[in-house]
Amino acid sequence: MTRIWALILAAVSLSSLPVAAEHRDVRIVASFSILGDMVKQVVGDLATVSTIVGPDADAHVYQPSVADARDVVAADVVFVNGLGFETWAGSLISQSGTEAVVQVVTAGITPIEVDGSVDPHAWNSLANGTIYVQNIASTMAKAIPEHRDTITANANAYIAELETLHARTRKRVAALTPDRRTVVTAHDAFGYLADAYGLTFLAPQGIDTESEPSAQELATLIDQLKTEAPAALFVENIASPELVQQISHETGLAIGGQLFSEALSELGGPATSYLAMFRHNLGTLLDALEQPSCANPNTRNDPC
Ligand SMILES: [Zn+2]
Repeated sequence: MTRIWALILAAVSLSSLPVAAEHRDVRIVASFSILGDMVKQVVGDLATVSTIVGPDADAHVYQPSVADARDVVAADVVFVNGLGFETWAGSLISQSGTEAVVQVVTAGITPIEVDGSVDPHAWNSLANGTIYVQNIASTMAKAIPEHRDTITANANAYIAELETLHARTRKRVAALTPDRRTVVTAHDAFGYLADAYGLTFLAPQGIDTESEPSAQELATLIDQLKTEAPAALFVENIASPELVQQISHETGLAIGGQLFSEALSELGGPATSYLAMFRHNLGTLLDALEQPSCANPNTRNDPC
């Protein structure tokens, strides 16, 4: 065991003596903010939900704290994305010794691969979001069976909203011409969205944010963009905008806005829930893709 874990567990064992109470709230821990919101939509007031990686934070490179270990120990249910997204979650859960039910919400999803690695960003498809909600609902119906009917009703109403947005988006995307279906984002987080709607996403960083592209890789991408002429570039809330700004500078392509790839916005922002995030991302993308394209890629700096 590493020294940091020994310190964390010592702190937890001193502070997590059980409270003698006949009744206490059901406690749920979700690994990241998007998943935390989905759980809240399903359980409503029936449980207390906390999240480990909060709004605008990058789960790929997160380092758990003592408080996180304490929350996991006290939890009745822990929800994680899986597919290699939270590389730190396995040791956090096993080393904490928690007796919580641990549910991987991507169970039953067909993963896609990017450059030989499994793409963990499965929530960026609304069809997968429905599977997440079903997994959350069936786990919670077992954890608090006396509330099964409420959980099922909440989940069904929520899934209906996801399906309505999906159907509306498919209609809007169907009107796009083939030359208006490519965009650039900071890292490869939208493979599932691309698959769902027939779009192409290019990115200077791969499916995690841990490594920066080399100068050569960046130059190759910029050359590719000069010939393929994507419709727009987008910055992400969890990643530094510098790479995308550099690409914009060198290609003359405009930045079409900010996308929320794997964390919600802080309260007051445009993406405080999974549904709000999806509406914001799709609206921002489609507003850019629906602009008329320039006939000549060499005149992209001109208004056209
Ligand atoms: Zn990511």
